[in-house]
Amino acid sequence: MNNTWPRMQVKWPDNKKIGILMAFDVDAECLWTQRGDGNRDHITNISRGTYGPKTGLPRILKMLDAHNIKATFYVPGWTAEQHPKIIKELADRGHEIGFHGYEHEEKGANSREEEEAIMDRAEKCLRDIAGVQPVGHRGPGGVMYDYSVEMFYKRGYIYSSNHRDVDGPFFHRINGKEIPFLEFPKDSLYDDGFYMCTLSEPMRESMKSPREAIKMMKAEFDGLAEEGGRMITFVFHPQLSGHPGRLRVLSEFIGYMKAHGACFMRSDEAARYLIEQHGPFEPIEFQFDK
Ligand SMILES: [Zn+2]
Repeated sequence: MNNTWPRMQVKWPDNKKIGILMAFDVDAECLWTQRGDGNRDHITNISRGTYGPKTGLPRILKMLDAHNIKATFYVPGWTAEQHPKIIKELADRGHEIGFHGYEHEEKGANSREEEEAIMDRAEKCLRDIAGVQPVGHRGPGGVMYDYSVEMFYKRGYIYSSNHRDVDGPFFHRINGKEIPFLEFPKDSLYDDGFYMCTLSEPMRESMKSPREAIKMMKAEFDGLAEEGGRMITFVFHPQLSGHPGRLRVLSEFIGYMKAHGACFMRSDEAARYLIEQHGPFEPIEFQFDK
């Protein structure tokens, strides 16, 4: 897949040095039913997931308000069904809600039909509960097939956040031609799950203090801001980062990024901005029938 070169050198608004997408995965209980032991009666684990929408999310919203930042929340349809009030509130407060599976299907789908059915179901939940049609795709397990980009594009999506190969956005291609559909790569470095998740033994052993985790993210931020024209897409989970000590350190980090050239955007806003910056796209021929 040679669609990531040359790297985009983005001109961010107001001459800012680096684009910052604050993105939260509201996996909630699904993280434990899909990635954990799958035992829905294991109330200790399940309620760890519930902590996200029930306790962490309201605190995160308050923190984002204090910084006057709009963020992106990737919400599985099932999570929206279980916690409709707080998920609707995300949209009401002007945050973006993106696709993140129906029940956080980690392994992807067995066929295109099955994947479309999952997307239909999840999108309907988000429409019915929060009144939004998602335009951004973050796969729960980051699984993408040959047809995925074309399928997302045809479904009206304008970006995906699944790759990990470059430090900034790029336009996907169909038959070698760029299309108005972006990739916002992420990395484990910017994922609180790799510092703070207690899902399995190795992760438990690697649990870091928030200052240690943010120190590593800050080093990357400083490096990319110095290069210029780059972007970071974060992966925070309300059930992990919504604890007060961690959130306080994250809030300080946001203050630091603001003071050092960060341009904060919702992911859909960043996609629209970059599509507009690009100018006209050449006509393309689709590769797949549907
Ligand atoms: Zn997730």
